[in-house]
Amino acid sequence: MNNPTATRTAGLSQLTHSLPLTGSIYTQWRNTDFGPQGDNRVSKLSPWLRHRLLLEPEVIEAAINAHGLDNAEKFVQEVCWRSYWKGFLERRPVHWHDYVAERHAQRAHYERFRDLSQQLERAELGQTGIACFDAWVHELTTYGYLHNHARMWFASIWVFTLGLPWALGADFFLRHLLDGDPASNTLSWRWIAGYHTPGKTYLARASNIERYTQQRFSPGETLATEAPAPEGVERPPLGPAPLPVDWQCSANTGLLITEEDLMPESLFGQPAWASTIAVQATQCRSDAPVNTQVSAFAHAGLVDALTRNQSSTDIAPMAIDTAQAQTHVLEAMRQTGVTHWLTPWVPTGPTADAINALSKALAAVDIQLEPVPRAWDVEVWPHATHGFFRFWKAVGPMLSQRYAAEE
Ligand SMILES: Cc1cc2nc3c(=O)[nH]c(=O)nc-3n(C[C@H](O)[C@H](O)[C@H](O)COP(=O)(O)OP(=O)(O)OC[C@H]3O[C@@H](n4cnc5c(N)ncnc54)[C@H](O)[C@@H]3O)c2cc1C
Repeated sequence: MNNPTATRTAGLSQLTHSLPLTGSIYTQWRNTDFGPQGDNRVSKLSPWLRHRLLLEPEVIEAAINAHGLDNAEKFVQEVCWRSYWKGFLERRPVHWHDYVAERHAQRAHYERFRDLSQQLERAELGQTGIACFDAWVHELTTYGYLHNHARMWFASIWVFTLGLPWALGADFFLRHLLDGDPASNTLSWRWIAGYHTPGKTYLARASNIERYTQQRFSPGETLATEAPAPEGVERPPLGPAPLPVDWQCSANTGLLITEEDLMPESLFGQPAWASTIAVQATQCRSDAPVNTQVSAFAHAGLVDALTRNQSSTDIAPMAIDTAQAQTHVLEAMRQTGVTHWLTPWVPTGPTADAINALSKALAAVDIQLEPVPRAWDVEVWPHATHGFFRFWKAVGPMLSQRYAAEE
């Protein structure tokens, strides 16, 4: 497996390369995990989609153009899972903040007891004795990627066989996945553990692993045979979805770029920005060290975005992951003399937490930071209210209508 390069050009090239797989091949083979050296028939577009070096609508459109909506439907639906999770978390940010608190509490608890910390360490080092799980740990920490089905099996084994807290598993993923995303990751782990759909959990079965890994693994009797659902799961009330912003750009408007959206030029065009600043919050994804290849990917993506959106000032990506770093960024922004900054919408998660703190500090010195949502998010996030199938019932026909007209 090759390490992906964090540029728009590399993302487009992976899109071209994976396009033949996004029709009937995907429908037939998407659940089979041939392993890191195998011939997986999925797109591997996730690191670029995660950082918006590729956008959901352009990937959907490319797949439909290549295969027609009927043949590409399964792939298109999976891309829409990403939009669904993003919208769901945006409308219930409490799930992110509860996760952060739970992760913190569980880490403190596990550090207090030697047997617990050793158990957690064995899982994170891939020394559980469950061959498939240990291999996935190695794959994840080496390549920053796991096939979707392996992620499901992994999370289920973590929670129901090893009896470890879901929030520490979600944290382990977020530290190591190149596509680590606060919405897709947190909410998928919640779904597996039974906190998304009341009464519903996901149990990894040995026969399913054997079949869909093409017999690479046969976990036999080693796995839990039950996945009990937690009690008292309720959905918190819905918050608002972002509305369109009628943004304006003057001679004194700057651009702030974050790792949440590395293609600001497709949103704002390329005006003569008074200044361009890129900030990096990757370390805020966890309170434990984030895998260096994850930080390196985000950093390279920010450099690529700066290159495509450079103003006359020349500032490299700046860390924003501590109070001190934020003060440094604030000072750098002040020194430009720019009092109005635009930024692509920063969705709920660690970067938004850092940006919200920065935004308040900027407001205190009369500098405005204005986040602008993308049309796709404004259009589809309002439908992320319940389960995916209700979301798809609204978004599927919208896509059919749009692309039927073009076919
Ligand atoms: C426990 C768990 C944790 C996960 N954590 C993340 C994460 O942090 N970041 C992330 O991007 N995805 C996450 N996923 C979803 C999914 O596993 C990955 O998006 C997918 O495996 C990426 O590989 P691919 O690009 O080859 O996907 P493909 O199958 O080729 O799909 C194309 C694109 O659709 C999106 N997509 C596909 N399946 C899903 C899905 N189930 N949920 C959300 N989006 C999807 C991705 O953007 C993906 O790149 C998680 C799934 C599970 C079960």
